[in-house]
Amino acid sequence: MELEKLNLPGVEDKRPLIIAGPCSAETEEQVLSTAHTLASKGVKIFRAGIWKPRTKPGGFEGIGKEGLPWMKRVKEETGMLITTEVATPAHVEQALEAGMDMLWVGARTSANPFAMQDLADALQGVDIPVLVKNPVNPDLELWIGAMERINRAGIKRIGAIHRGFSSYDKTIYRNLPQWHIPIELRRRLPELPIFSDPSHIGGRRELVAPLCQQAMDLGFDGLIIESHCNPDAAWSDAKQQVTPEILDYILSLLVIRTDKMTTENLSELRKQIDDCDNKLIELLSKRMRISREIGMYKKEHNMTILQTDRYSEILEKRGAQGALCGINSECVKNIFESIHEESVHQQMEIINK
Ligand code: PEP
Ligand code: MN
Repeated sequence: MELEKLNLPGVEDKRPLIIAGPCSAETEEQVLSTAHTLASKGVKIFRAGIWKPRTKPGGFEGIGKEGLPWMKRVKEETGMLITTEVATPAHVEQALEAGMDMLWVGARTSANPFAMQDLADALQGVDIPVLVKNPVNPDLELWIGAMERINRAGIKRIGAIHRGFSSYDKTIYRNLPQWHIPIELRRRLPELPIFSDPSHIGGRRELVAPLCQQAMDLGFDGLIIESHCNPDAAWSDAKQQVTPEILDYILSLLVIRTDKMTTENLSELRKQIDDCDNKLIELLSKRMRISREIGMYKKEHNMTILQTDRYSEILEKRGAQGALCGINSECVKNIFESIHEESVHQQMEIINK
C-alpha cells in the first residue's frame, strides 16, 4: 500500500492524536455543548455518528442528514476538524458536501468487501483521510483488504482503528481486544497509523482509562474516544461514554513512553532475551532427546505412545507452576501442549522405524 502521513490541518503530529465526541449526534444542543467543552480541553478532532448501524431495527438509527449542519457549526464555532462514519456511497456524498475533514468506516462495513468496494468507488479522486475500523470478526486479512480497496481508489492518508472483535462468550469487554491482531498489523504495515477505540472495546466507562494506557504502551498513534455532555442520557452506547471533563482527566493521567532514548538499554536487554531463547532451544532439544529414549523404551515394551494420565499431569503441574511465577497458566498449558505434540510426533517416528 502506498501510504502518506495523515497530515491533518491545524493538528500537531503528536502521540496520541485524539478524536473525541459522542457516539451519535442526537440534538443540535447536545452536539454543540459537547463540542465546545471538548474544544476547551484542547481536543482538535470531533467525532459524531450521523448514520448509526444498529444491531436491531426500531432503535435510534442516527439523526441522518439533519445533523450535518450541526457538525458544520462545530467546525465554524470551535475550529475543530469534524469526522463521521460512512457506510454507503450516499453517506460519502452527503458527508463530503457537509465539509467533513475525515471519514471513518465502521466495523460492520469493513467486514463486507462489496460495501468496501462501493465506498472505494465513491471516494475515487477525493483527497480526504479515511480511518478503517477492524471488521467485527478477527480477520486481519479482511481488515487489510478493506484498507487496500480504499488505497486503490487513490486515498493515501489512511489510518486503522482497533475497536476489538465480537465474541459470543461473555467477557469483561464488549469486544475482545485481541491485541496480537493490531500488533501484527503494525508489523505488516509499519507506516500505517493505528488508533485505539477503548469505548467500543470496553463497552463501559471504567475500562476506558486502562485501555487507553494499554494502547499507548503498545505504541499506538491515537485514540478515538466517545464523549457526551450527559452520557447517562445518551441515545446510543450510554454505558461507555464519558463527559469531556472525565476524558480530559483520563488523558492527563496517561503515561506516554517513547522508544527513542532507550535503544542502548534495549539492545542490552534484547541480548539477554536472545540468550534465554538459545537456552530454551537447547533445553527443548535435550527434552526431545529424552523423549525419543522413552519412545525406544515404549517400543521395546510394546506400550502405547500416548499415556493420557501422564499428559494431564504435565499440563496441570506446569500450568500451576507458571501461575506461581507470574505467567498465565493457560499460556503455559498451550506451550506444553505444543511441546507434547512434538514429543509424540518424534516417538511415532521411532516406533514406526
Ligand atoms: C461508533 O464508532 O460509534 C461505531 C458504531 O463503532 P463500530 O463500528 O466500531 O461498532
Ligand atoms: Mn458507539
